[in-house]
Amino acid sequence: MVVDTHLTAVSPVTLSIVIPMYNEVEGIDVLFERLNTLISDMDDLCEVVFVDDGSHDGTWQYLLQKHSLHFETQYIRLSRNFGKEAAMTAGLESVRGEAVILLDADLQDPPELIPEMLAKWREGFDVVNMKRRKRHGETWFKRFSAACFYKLMNWLSDTPVHENVGDFRLLSRQVVDHINAMPERNRFMKGILSWPGFAQATIEFDRHSRQCGDTKWNYGSLIGLAMDGITSFSFKPLRLATYSGVTIGVFAFVYGLWIMTKTLVFGEAVAGYASIMVTQLFLAGVQLLAIGLIGEYVGRVFVEVKQRPIFIVAQAYQQHRSDKPFSV
Ligand code: UDP
Ligand code: MG
Repeated sequence: MVVDTHLTAVSPVTLSIVIPMYNEVEGIDVLFERLNTLISDMDDLCEVVFVDDGSHDGTWQYLLQKHSLHFETQYIRLSRNFGKEAAMTAGLESVRGEAVILLDADLQDPPELIPEMLAKWREGFDVVNMKRRKRHGETWFKRFSAACFYKLMNWLSDTPVHENVGDFRLLSRQVVDHINAMPERNRFMKGILSWPGFAQATIEFDRHSRQCGDTKWNYGSLIGLAMDGITSFSFKPLRLATYSGVTIGVFAFVYGLWIMTKTLVFGEAVAGYASIMVTQLFLAGVQLLAIGLIGEYVGRVFVEVKQRPIFIVAQAYQQHRSDKPFSV
């Protein structure tokens, strides 16, 4: 019999919940209350990792006053606002749990579903995707643009992202380790979280409106995120630019032949201002679009080669379930 001597050390923490927070002070009490009620019913050791993404409304100061008898806590403060993607990356790098759940601070994704997610993980799934059935509190335009984005992304990308699955999902330790090993600076998390693959399960749920405060995204930042998603996970836009160049080139050649023949047979006429203008403007548009596209990729290469850190941690504390002083 072969005895495996490489026993993997299993963390004492079963579940880690990562919560990125940007100016969420109003919701902290309810968040703690809901987590406390939920976790007090669970037998597993849980930790909650709060990542303060450079809030300026007192979120950090208020967070440090809170502690729980039911779960361990890690408090991480980034040196400025790096964005939700970077905040989640910071959280994932410091979790200790065997299973990890990403949760929004505004309780749009109900923590009460966590036991169901854990049950799927115990069945052997490495990733439990939470699919939004209804998206309460979002305008029809946001829902429509989100639907268009998922369609476009999945058409263009080589690593499809799950439609209507946000960042709220469970990841096994193994998947988290692979994600932490991904070195890219452009952290489009929906793509990064889907990329490693592994056994996937999906649970559907109704997404609620924010319990308080406003969304931290505007259309500008959402378009930026969509561009990040598409360019970080696909070369297809560049390929499309090549294809359209080839197609236009073929048409231009055929059209050129036709014009030459016409001129030789019927002589030269000076008419044709409209067609020249239309062709000229069309080609100028296509060229600018292609240059812009190349620029998007070059810009991202520029960010990657600089190798700057994705985030900077200004302060970090850990607190155990008992009311002990912080350990750094
Ligand atoms: N968030 C963050 N950094 C940011 C923006 C948002 O950490 O720069 C956090 C925010 O505090 C919340 C989560 O990301 O916990 C989701 O943000 P929001 O509710 O604004 O997004 P939406 O639900 O509208 O997509
Ligand atoms: Mg939200």
